[in-house]
Amino acid sequence: MYGKFQKYLQDELKAIEEAGLYKHERNICSPQGAEITLEDGSKALNFCANNYLGLSDNPRLIAAAKKAMDERGYGMSSVRFICGAQDIHRQLEKAIAKYFHTDDTILYAACFDANGGVFEPLLTAEDAIISDALNHASIIDGVRLCKAVRYRYANADMADLERCLQEAQAQRFRIIVTDGVFSMDGNVAPMDKICELAEKYDALVMVDESHSAGVVGPTGHGVAEEFGLYGRIDIHTGTLGKSFGGAVGGFTTGRQEIIDMLRQRSRPYLFSNSLPPMICGACIELFKMLEESNALHDKQQENVKYFREKMLAAGFDCKPTQSAILAVMLYDAPLSQKFAARMAEEGIFVTGFYYPVVPKGQARIRVQISAAHEKQHLDKAIAAFIKVGKELGVLK
Ligand SMILES: *Cc1c(COP(=O)(O)O)cnc(C)c1O
Repeated sequence: MYGKFQKYLQDELKAIEEAGLYKHERNICSPQGAEITLEDGSKALNFCANNYLGLSDNPRLIAAAKKAMDERGYGMSSVRFICGAQDIHRQLEKAIAKYFHTDDTILYAACFDANGGVFEPLLTAEDAIISDALNHASIIDGVRLCKAVRYRYANADMADLERCLQEAQAQRFRIIVTDGVFSMDGNVAPMDKICELAEKYDALVMVDESHSAGVVGPTGHGVAEEFGLYGRIDIHTGTLGKSFGGAVGGFTTGRQEIIDMLRQRSRPYLFSNSLPPMICGACIELFKMLEESNALHDKQQENVKYFREKMLAAGFDCKPTQSAILAVMLYDAPLSQKFAARMAEEGIFVTGFYYPVVPKGQARIRVQISAAHEKQHLDKAIAAFIKVGKELGVLK
């Protein structure tokens, strides 16, 4: 049997390669950080990690992870409803709830699981999910696992959302679902307007804070802080794999009964392993650190501002951003790939995106700016952008 299937896969893989869509991966041989080392010993500056607060190699987190591992062991070998978890799992859940000003939190192995397991336990075919067209793949998959009626509105388009809300009056309950920050443009969802419409049309509100947590808001606490919406967002999901240390893990945090119901019925929680103790130990320490000081958040924000201003001054066409994500527009798909490849040769890792990841004719380079970047890193990246930009005719 495998022979025929193998041929089929080989043909498909070849088609992916020929379409220029094959995803090649590089191997990093150092901790994640502003500067990374590759297999051949060469070094590069990393501008495509989600390491927004620069905590992936933070000594305090590493020490806390080691301590938790020494005291609590390596793994849990269990799901929580069968054999329980450790007190530190509960402590971390409480710390996340405190950070987002919510009632309670439930941990998952990843945010992909949090989004995969949030809709089906809460909503039925009688209900409606109203989802932004640019929401993350894990939200789309989570919606697919639920029988609720689906509505989709154009990215951050409040008139289109209102249309969906009007149509969804036919259903029993309605929930509006959005990413906090959209990962291709770096724009923040208009949560104030979303919450107003939710009130007007009697809908719940859910936001995925994966790219917004640690970055958006005066002290980085996410979209509720940014828009002064504490108590008005029913569900936040998020990841421990971006700003929050960058290891692994996800969570849903929000209203008490919602979290209680997820603990009873959410399948990725019920039928999957608990987070390892070292993640809990490190992340408890992380939330302590974020409470002590906003310095990392502030540095990250200054870095984005600095980088964007210098790029605009150099003549690049950058989208406005309210996050750590900066889209440098090139419009042309092959150019975006060539540009990213030339940047890599210059020792700067950035990502070129084109259709279907972004709309046709909207190809771009995405830059992700971290608190780990020092001025010298930013200047080096900007100089490389200018050099490659001139070489490829993007800059005059
Ligand atoms: C990264 C991301 C996820 C996935 O998070 P993991 O914890 O890595 O599974 C989910 N949603 C959004 C919006 C993301 O950006």
